[in-house]
Parts: sequence; C-alpha cells; structure tokens
Amino acid sequence: MAGTQGARRGRRASDAVEPLGSLAGTTNGSAPGPESCSACGGTTLTRVRIVLTDSTPVVFVSCHACEHKGWYEDGGDGTELGLDWVTVHSAKKS
Ligand SMILES: [Zn+2]
Repeated sequence: MAGTQGARRGRRASDAVEPLGSLAGTTNGSAPGPESCSACGGTTLTRVRIVLTDSTPVVFVSCHACEHKGWYEDGGDGTELGLDWVTVHSAKKS
C-alpha cells in the first residue's frame, strides 16, 4: 500500500525563498554606487536599490569590513548622500 505522501517528495530549498516586496533586490558589481568603501576602502559591499517615499531611487551601500553605511542616488554622479538628505526624501508629505 503506497501512501499519497510519496508523490510530494523532492521539495527544494529554493521554494522557500520569497522575493522581497518593494526592494529591487541585492546586486553586486553592476549597481550604482562606489567601487569601494568610502571609510576603509573595502570592496566587499552590499548594494540594495530602494525607492524613497518621494519616488527618488537610491542605492544603499553597506561595507562588510567596517559596517560603514552610505546612500547614493541611483543614476547620480556617485556622490554620497547625507543621512539628512535621505531623511528629507523619506518623510511623508502632508
Ligand atoms: Zn568599510
């Protein structure tokens, strides 16, 4: 007597990975932002594209080596954005 459970074998680990809502995803290499960390010069960076509340696309960069975090305008000239700038563009307008 074979049970019905056998037919559902082979569940893959990748099935459990769900896409992240509004984030465009983590990219490496081709994303905007600096080639290296502005604080320590490390090149192992995590880049995440995020769209702020006012629809400005930015890239959040986090350094693996020193945990320095920075914001850069997506498609901009690579200038690091200040936290104040990000806060302003993230604020909800009344
Ligand atoms: Zn660093």
